[in-house]
Amino acid sequence: MEKRALRYEGKAKKVYETADPNLLVVEYKDDATAFNAQKRGTIAGKGAVNNAVTSRLYPLLAEQGVPNHFVRQLSEREQLVQAVNIVPLEVVVRNVAAGSFAKRLGIEEGQLLSRPITELYYKSDALGDPLVNADTALSLGWASEAEIAEILRLAQRVNQVLQAFFATRRVQLVDFKLEFGVNAREQLLLADEISPDTCRFWDMDSGERLDKDRFRRDLGQVEEAYQEMLQRVLS
Ligand code: UDP
Repeated sequence: MEKRALRYEGKAKKVYETADPNLLVVEYKDDATAFNAQKRGTIAGKGAVNNAVTSRLYPLLAEQGVPNHFVRQLSEREQLVQAVNIVPLEVVVRNVAAGSFAKRLGIEEGQLLSRPITELYYKSDALGDPLVNADTALSLGWASEAEIAEILRLAQRVNQVLQAFFATRRVQLVDFKLEFGVNAREQLLLADEISPDTCRFWDMDSGERLDKDRFRRDLGQVEEAYQEMLQRVLS
């Protein structure tokens, strides 16, 4: 599938049009940002890892009842996806208190949550992705009631599927961020990447962090953590 015009360049990916208006090529970059792009850097090999991890997880999710935009992996850094209009929400699911949740509520990182928590954030770099609720999304017309209900249901399903997948690889799925979009046929689809950039992965035995927190928090061994996750996902 030949790449045509660059439609969008984000922090970690480029998106190209193709000859088919319903299909896009996503190209994964090694660039990394954190804290609303105040911290910038590169993580060698990250683009290839995130493409491979996403390309492994999306077909599994489709099989397990989570419709998504993934079509196929094209190359080390590229994948073909269905074009969607992204719902302007970041959907975060948490199994263990960490990151902004732990900080906001004054909870120790690592506390197991008695049930998974789903949070919605408004996708806005200018506003720093503020926390919102379903009423806000409905009232401001970001999604319909049916779409919100489906997003929340699918987020729980993704959590079940991924928790089980990673547990067999001795990885604890601490939390993760999802995005959803609507395609030309008005179908709501899971979209965007699922990777060490968008999930917290802790080694079940050592507690070692195998995700972007190594970059965010200057923990070192960043490239190694991404490669370790790639090996585990492909095992
Ligand atoms: N996350 C993400 N993109 C964002 C914000 C969060 O992929 O813009 C992911 C993050 O990697 C983590 C989860 O969502 O797995 C929850 O992140 P949190 O709200 O704790 O924010 P952080 O501490 O990363 O700022």
